[in-house]
Amino acid sequence: MKAIRRFTVRTVLPESIAPLSRLARNLRWSWDRPTEELFAELNPQAWEAVHGDPVRLLGSLTREEIQQIAADAPTVRRIEELDADLDRYLTEDRWYQLTQPADAPRSIAYFSAEYGITSVLPQYSGGLGILAGDHLKSASDLGVPVVGVGLFYQHGYFKQSLSRDAWQQETYPVLDPDGMPLTLLREEDGTPVRVGVPLPDGRCLSAHVWRADVGRVPLLLLDSDIPDNDDHARSVTDRLYGGGGDHRLQQELLLGMGGVRALRAFCRLTGAPEPDVYHCNEGHAGFAGIERVAELMDPARGAGVLTWEEALTAVRCSTVFTTHTPVPAGIDRFERAQIEHFFEAGLAPSVPTREILALGAEDYPGGDPGKFNMAVMGLRLAQRANGVAKLHGTVSRQMFQGLWPGFDTDEVPIGSITNGVHVTTWIDPRIAELALDPHGSDLDRAARWRQIYAVDDARLWAVRRRLREELVADVRTRLRASWKARGAADAELAWTDAVLDPDVLTIGFARRVPTYKRLTLMLRDPQRLKRLLLDRHRPVQLVVAGKSHPADEQGKRLIQDLVRFTDDPEVRHRIVFLPNYDIAMARTLFPGCDVWLNNPLRPLEACGTSGMKAALNGGLNLSVLDGWWDEMYDGQNGWAIPTADDGADPDERDDIEAAALYELIENHVAPRFYGETAEGSDPADDGVPHQWLAMVKHTLATLGPRVSAKRMLEDYVRELYLPAARSGREAAADDHAAARATSRWVRRVREAWPHVTVEHVDAEGVELEPQIGDELTVHAYVSLGALGPEDVQAEIGYGRVSDSDHIHERRHACLVPAEDLGGGRHRFTGSVTIDRSGPFGYTVRLLPHHPAVADRAELGLVANA
Ligand SMILES: *Cc1c(COP(=O)(O)O)cnc(C)c1O
Repeated sequence: MKAIRRFTVRTVLPESIAPLSRLARNLRWSWDRPTEELFAELNPQAWEAVHGDPVRLLGSLTREEIQQIAADAPTVRRIEELDADLDRYLTEDRWYQLTQPADAPRSIAYFSAEYGITSVLPQYSGGLGILAGDHLKSASDLGVPVVGVGLFYQHGYFKQSLSRDAWQQETYPVLDPDGMPLTLLREEDGTPVRVGVPLPDGRCLSAHVWRADVGRVPLLLLDSDIPDNDDHARSVTDRLYGGGGDHRLQQELLLGMGGVRALRAFCRLTGAPEPDVYHCNEGHAGFAGIERVAELMDPARGAGVLTWEEALTAVRCSTVFTTHTPVPAGIDRFERAQIEHFFEAGLAPSVPTREILALGAEDYPGGDPGKFNMAVMGLRLAQRANGVAKLHGTVSRQMFQGLWPGFDTDEVPIGSITNGVHVTTWIDPRIAELALDPHGSDLDRAARWRQIYAVDDARLWAVRRRLREELVADVRTRLRASWKARGAADAELAWTDAVLDPDVLTIGFARRVPTYKRLTLMLRDPQRLKRLLLDRHRPVQLVVAGKSHPADEQGKRLIQDLVRFTDDPEVRHRIVFLPNYDIAMARTLFPGCDVWLNNPLRPLEACGTSGMKAALNGGLNLSVLDGWWDEMYDGQNGWAIPTADDGADPDERDDIEAAALYELIENHVAPRFYGETAEGSDPADDGVPHQWLAMVKHTLATLGPRVSAKRMLEDYVRELYLPAARSGREAAADDHAAARATSRWVRRVREAWPHVTVEHVDAEGVELEPQIGDELTVHAYVSLGALGPEDVQAEIGYGRVSDSDHIHERRHACLVPAEDLGGGRHRFTGSVTIDRSGPFGYTVRLLPHHPAVADRAELGLVANA
């Protein structure tokens, strides 16, 4: 029988255990082990049946079971204590309150299309979402006042299974928000808050707003599946990254523009401060900036109304943009005509559509004039932008150089903050006990991790084995379930009970399956891989997992190739593919692997975070020097797979890199794991691989603090949130006086710039044969047209020159106005000391100069000599 209607009956708890409800609804339980254990122990069978979901657990208990809990004094006391602890956690002063200046932002809005917080709230597809979840959790732990904004997807992302012939199958579970740790945001009169954005043809896209509490951080999720909407509008938030074209565009319009409206309602109803900073995590939420511009240009503001340029200036100051991928196909682009069609419908009536179109235009060499690029709009709407690892910063500066013509790549104003992971979520508690001093504080995180050096090798080895053993057990269960789903009968599956071995070197590889991650590089030479797996003395076993995007046939084929290899009875006890990689699987997988493998096509992995989670558990990384590993590999914390990126064709490159991978495993990784010392002598006689464990300890002690998302959050606060809050406040003060003045100045400079030139440069002080220590004095004769010398900065760029006269290791020195020559002409003068031998060169250039400009390249204006 099928129900025609469904609703969720809320459990009413007796007074004495009423706090259980709050403990279940605040997602802090998902990283607070004592709270999680409390729920698990209330009723272990029910806990398993609801897959570790506290809200569903409480909903599944009978009245008698609830009465029993309420009558059990020790449990009641435990609940009270945990409730008091949560209370303390939510209200006490933490790192942010203790260390940050009085003008630190009072609130930071964080926009992301996906959030991976816990398997109970499956609103993520992969790394981007997990990162966003870790961002919120760490913000909460540090007391950083972040408010998250996203969408609630009725189906979340898909669940993956395999067909008999190893083809990926997708199913979309229906999620019932009423049965999840979510609360509907309501008006004072109890009606649900409704935010709406107008659509073409007089239609409207409305949404309710769910609130999740991630510790101290509220997360607002917009849900379009409400009766006010027509069927099309209802399905806008049906699934993550659903469909292309209009579907995706409407998701992003709702996320950005609806998201700002949801924030406004949230602040109005809860008294929370309006955000000082808006952080767009990737381009999907870029329309948030348009909504904020529209607010400032709304004629209802009367005399306070701003022009397009003024509003853009104000919004940019307080906006931070993070780009997450160097893969062009990973960037959202729409048809320009599509954007025009939607905005002409009155989405932002006060904002000229042509200005919006210009923000996303690919109007640089190599761009497509018919496209609207969300990352490009994100960069133009944000005064501050970053990539997610040092190397990714470099790659992003090259990739987006076209937006700042006239500047060298290293001057493109995109910085980098390396991603991190939320330690308490991803570290196994047994490793935490060994590696992390419980009395240490966030103020000296590195010191906390040094405790691991004092731990006895045998003890650490025993814990590592235990974790491997638990992974092996989990793999067997999952593999059997997968084979049953593929149509196998129990009688055929006895072999799955003997898959993997808790004493064999275990290598993990799990991630999404876009081509650049090269899931099947390990299959490049199948015979060689087989030999490694089946080696008599030093066998290796591999655990592989990953989802392919549903529309990516090529990715599905890679999975099929891999699974077919693992199906071979000769090797199937040493290599497995586990379907449905998700947070729940990951939390057993990372701790259980000895080695974490990553072999992307360098430099296409922006950061990668799974290797960080492995490192937190004492796993050693075996990876191409890409993303985070490029900056954190130090020769003793794992291995670097060499890259053949200098001219080899793709096939050759795969051959070379795969061969290097096999060589590393065979001659370096496996011998060390099995206790052979570097000198090749016999294994240590106590059965403990001391040199391996030295690497494990070094990994924990040195990478632990660096891969922590707390380090990441502190970087964001210091480098981006604080400066953005200051710029934003300055711009907005006195009815946006500074924003108005700055935008007038920008306009004047832009108009005058075509007439700004360096006419002539003279130098003195350097003889025919200059020597180190000589001072070079430079006079630049410039024409500034309508601008004054205070509007520009003149500088010498100097350094070593190549044969083609390009200046390397360039440094800058300022020139100061020395003489007004009349008619807009000036002489600027300055000097530099020559402090290096070899070929030396210099040049002079003019840049716009204004205190509200955060970066010299920001306006994209430069006059080179
Ligand atoms: C960490 C994680 C990812 C991201 O891993 P990458 O190394 O960035 O590819 C994806 N999915 C899950 C479930 C994760 O835990």
